[in-house]
Order: sequence, then C-alpha cells, then structure tokens
Amino acid sequence: MSISPRPRADAPHLAVIGAGVGGCSLLASLRRQGWPAERISLWESGRGPGGRTATRRSRQDSHLRIDHGAPLFNISASPDPALLAPLLAGGWIEPWQGTLACLDKDGGLTGRLEDPFCQGRLYRGRQGMEQLCRGLLALAGGAIEAHYGILVRHLETSSEGRWQLLDSAGELLAAADWLVLGSTLLAHPRSRLVLGWDTLPLAVGATERADPELAHSLAAIASIRAEARSNLMMVVPANAAAPWRALPFRLLSFDSVAQQRWGLRRVAIQPLEDGRCAVVAHSTGTFAGEHLNVYGSRSSIAKHLGMAPTQQRETEVIAALERGLQGALAAWLPEPSEALPPGGAPWPGVHSELMRWGAAFPQHPGLPRALALCRRSRVGFCGDFIEGPGFGRVEGAMRSGEALATRLLEAAQLDP
Ligand SMILES: Cc1cc2nc3c(=O)[nH]c(=O)nc-3n(C[C@H](O)[C@H](O)[C@H](O)COP(=O)(O)OP(=O)(O)OC[C@H]3O[C@@H](n4cnc5c(N)ncnc54)[C@H](O)[C@@H]3O)c2cc1C
Repeated sequence: MSISPRPRADAPHLAVIGAGVGGCSLLASLRRQGWPAERISLWESGRGPGGRTATRRSRQDSHLRIDHGAPLFNISASPDPALLAPLLAGGWIEPWQGTLACLDKDGGLTGRLEDPFCQGRLYRGRQGMEQLCRGLLALAGGAIEAHYGILVRHLETSSEGRWQLLDSAGELLAAADWLVLGSTLLAHPRSRLVLGWDTLPLAVGATERADPELAHSLAAIASIRAEARSNLMMVVPANAAAPWRALPFRLLSFDSVAQQRWGLRRVAIQPLEDGRCAVVAHSTGTFAGEHLNVYGSRSSIAKHLGMAPTQQRETEVIAALERGLQGALAAWLPEPSEALPPGGAPWPGVHSELMRWGAAFPQHPGLPRALALCRRSRVGFCGDFIEGPGFGRVEGAMRSGEALATRLLEAAQLDP
C-alpha cells in the first residue's frame, strides 16, 4: 500500500543549524520544492550567512569588504547544481574574471595551475562572496525565521521525542521535529578538545535516542580530519596600494615547493573601491599546525567562548606570515624601508590581522552520503564534509544541501 503524501501545510518543523553554503542550499532547495517557510528556523553563530564564504565588512568603514574565506568557487562535475542557474540569473554570483597564476620555488610565475580550487568553471559572489549565501536565502523566499549571532550549544530530546535546541546558558531556543546540522561542530570530538566542552551535543541526543544509525553517522564524523589555516588579512592604504593593485594576478597559488618555502598556499588580491587594497594570504596546513591555539582576536569562536586574547603570540604569527608574503612577492613589491626596526611590519601603514580557520578543509574520508540522513532520529547533515563531487569545497556543500533536501522531502512524506 503506498502512503499518500501529507499536505504541505502539515509539514513538520525543521531546525537548521548553520547558514553556510550547505545549510543555505538545503533551505533554497526545500523551499523551491514546497516545504513551508513558517515550518523552518535557521540558527547561525555568525553575524550573517556565509560561514567559510563570509565577507568581512565594517559598520565604521563602509568601503571595507574582504573575502577572508573562499575567494571564489569552482564547479568541476556535471550536471551543474540545480541552484547555480537561478543564482546567476538573480545576479547573486558571476563568473570569476580575475587573473590566476601559480608561483614556483624561485618566486617566478609558472604556466601550470594545478590548484584543485581552480579547475572547471569559476565563480564568485557579486560584490563579495557572502552574496552566494544571501542569494540562496533569497531563493528560499526570505520568509524563513533566521537567527544570527546565536551559538546552539546543547541538543536535547523532549518527552514527545522532538529535538530541543539550547544556547550556552541552557535557555531553550527552539523545538523541532527534524534537525539538520550544516557543520560538524556539534558532532565532532574536536569541539570538546578545542572548545573545552564536557559533552558533545549530538552524542547526548544519540544516547537518548538509542539509534544505531545515528551512532554510525557520529562515528564516521568523529573520524573526519580537517586541515586548518592561519591566514593573514591585510588592508593596504590607498597611498601605498598602487604596487599591490598592479600585481599581474588576482589569485596566486603556490606550487608545492613554493608552499614549503614561504608557508603560504594562496594569496588573494582584492582591490577596494576607495583605492585601498585588501590582501589575504592563506597559510599552508603545516604552518597552521605549527601555530595551534593562536586565534585571531576577532575570531567569532573566541568571542563566543570568551577566550583570552593571545596578543603576543598573534603578533609573532602575523610577522611570520608577513615575512612569507614579502619573500614570495619580492619580484613585484618595493623593498621595505631600511628604517624599520628588526622584526617590524615590512609595510608601514598596512593594517594586518590574523584569521584562524580551525577546520578550514575536511579531508577524505568524509561522511558517506548514505549516512547523511538518520530517519529514525530525524536528523540530517549537509556541508562540504559529505562525500561526493566537490568534497571539501563550495561545490560539495551546495550539492550536499540539494541532495539532502530531496531525501528530507521523501522522509517527511511531503509530495516533492
Ligand atoms: C580560507 C579558506 C579558503 C577557501 N577557499 C575555497 C575556494 O577557493 N573554493 C572553494 O570551493 N572552497 C573554498 N573553501 C572551502 C569552502 O569555503 C567550504 O567548502 C564551504 O564554504 C563550506 O560550506 P559549509 O556550509 O559546508 O560550511 P560552513 O561554511 O563552515 O558553514 C557552517 C556554518 O554553521 C555555523 N555553525 C556551526 N555550528 C553552529 C552552532 N552550534 N550554532 C550556530 N551556528 C553554527 C557556522 O558558524 C557556519 O557559518 C575555503 C575555505 C577556507 C576556510
């Protein structure tokens, strides 16, 4: 006997934790297939959507705009994610037109570009990478109840078997029939280590529900390793920006020997509208591993957890990254002034910050697709940590959200 689909007005309540590409793609896909907006809530610890595709802005500095995570994204498999065409048509994203180059061990440019982030068709958010997630949320219809600046800290099961989301103070934020995690934060043992949590939120829920399928997913998530990045974010003032803006590339990848030599993997040059130039130097995983526990003082996780700033160590890490950048770009930039004190910043007037991404890139094996939905526990996962085309990249996060939407609609017995 076939089960007749439920009327959509009767859709279960869904809580999605994480407004990165995975969570936002899920919402856009679900809404386009009819899941009612009033039955969805979105919870995000950052100030807005984006996650690792966020754009740094400032209320005090209206021209500041830095893509401090992914500077672009690529689509390398086919068919295209279904959301790509409407994002392009809506003007939220555009083809990347900047010049790409690769640096060799001698500091020269090579013709070879083996960077896996530059294969296939390249895109970026129009006016900042955050526009990708904003566009996905616009496709979702805009009527979804979205909460920013809130870290979901605990997950519990109510007496009726619903998921309960609680904040750090133990206050109830929401109750939902279905839960989706758009990140591994609440499920990976790393969080206990890094954040000093005594319990792992989803593990508590899994124990309460005694669901072997969820236990299996949790075990697979626990074994995912991630590479970190300790990135240098700089803003060069307009009066010193000319050589930076004249660089013959907008994205420079480093070959493997160049990475070892300078401790950097990529440099993104982002000219600002008012004549300044933002520069983001992405460290290697090795460099980030050598500087564990040094967070940028503006890191959102450090703020949420009230971590003490590590000013002295932060200054040392910034100086090391600046030296790497100076060496790598020596062929194009003027010699630093001799008047500078030893160990001082090579470019006077430049504002430098450290941006640490503790889990920048998940490594294979990720979570198998089959384990991305646990029907009995009514919990799903989406994000770049799900195995499949585009794993560890924006493409994978987008595809994972689309795939989970299809499975959720079926599991919730809503007619797609
Ligand atoms: C420096 C850097 C450079 C990159 N470059 C590229 C590139 O060139 N091309 C490319 O394709 N990809 C690149 N990537 C990878 C790409 O950014 C990611 O693959 C993609 O953004 C992942 O999206 P996601 O939705 O899976 O995860 P995320 O973007 O991490 O989103 C998860 C969201 O969940 C939120 N969250 C987690 N737990 C909680 C909680 N408990 N409560 C509330 N909110 C929570 C987080 O704040 C976050 O916003 C780069 C990443 C980094 C860090």
